[in-house]
Amino acid sequence: MQIQPIFNKPKGSPIIIAGPCSAESEDQVMDIARQLAAQGQVDLYRAGIWKPRTRPNSFEGVGVIGLKWLKRVKEETGLKVCTEVANRNHVFEAIKHQIDVLWIGARTTVSPFAVQEIADALEGTDIPVMIKNPINPDLGLWVGALERMYKAGITKIAMIHRGFSSFGNSDFRNEPRWQMPIDIMRRFPDLEMICDNSHICGRRDTLHAVAQKAMDLNFDGLMTETHNDPDKAWSDAMQQITPSVFKELVDSLIIRTRETEDVQFLENLDGLRQQINVIDNQLLDLLGERMSLAKDIGVYKKNNNISILQPSRWNEILNKSIAKGADKGLSSQFISVFLKAIHEESINHQEKVMRD
Ligand code: PEP
Ligand code: MN
Repeated sequence: MQIQPIFNKPKGSPIIIAGPCSAESEDQVMDIARQLAAQGQVDLYRAGIWKPRTRPNSFEGVGVIGLKWLKRVKEETGLKVCTEVANRNHVFEAIKHQIDVLWIGARTTVSPFAVQEIADALEGTDIPVMIKNPINPDLGLWVGALERMYKAGITKIAMIHRGFSSFGNSDFRNEPRWQMPIDIMRRFPDLEMICDNSHICGRRDTLHAVAQKAMDLNFDGLMTETHNDPDKAWSDAMQQITPSVFKELVDSLIIRTRETEDVQFLENLDGLRQQINVIDNQLLDLLGERMSLAKDIGVYKKNNNISILQPSRWNEILNKSIAKGADKGLSSQFISVFLKAIHEESINHQEKVMRD
């Protein structure tokens, strides 16, 4: 694949995409655009016109009229503009109104039929397309959407990482699962990767940390929802920030530079280390989850007067894991030591529960 960059900014200078979750009125769209344009940092102005909402009875976007407002943004501020498309008709309308860049939303990337319909509608155009990750952590669907666009003749493509749905409590609205965009960057080094910190965080106070992390993982840019009156936004109010707060966020990002001449070497090393950090963090998260399950089991055993250690269960875990470890090239000594340490910690947790 010969993918061309959409933005082509020098390394060390992130691509900045900002604007409201949804276009709400002409005044709102123009006010935010003027503020962002005055700051001189924004590469692309975003606003959703057709909003794919999880549940009905939410605001579903202003529709085609919003495209006229975006056209006015271009004419009056000089900003380039983008919006989300989810079907053939959206594509035709967006192109008719000279939208500069399109994006495919997370709820669309999951559907090969919808993605193909968009790709067919795009044939013969050279409009740049940004593809959000699918809501579920399926790299195949994300890459599949990229391939469908490319096959339709679109060469300027970027990816947007907006996190993945999960069940249960989380600090994130959408789990970042950083190893997924990292894997895409490894496989497609020419593809620009943009972090949509707004939809990952779902709240304002963590936007900076996630943006910084993306920069530290060598992402090419940021897409952040900005609104002139965030608390009153018609969609995603909790995660939107004003243009001036956004400027502070961007200005305080640390964009780290390389110290040695051998850039390629350092980049490769860094990429590998970041992947290790992500996995180590996941291991710790999983170990924490495992211990909390062990505690639940402890309570259950205590209430039913059952002893902590069941040797048959322990043997079963050990044998299964040694076999699986061998498949993955892990020695049986390592698996035994590793699992024994986990088991010991688990017993300590259960013992504590029994004692309390
Ligand atoms: C959006 O960008 O406002 C949006 C709907 O995003 P996503 O597709 O990531 O949920
Ligand atoms: Mn949104």
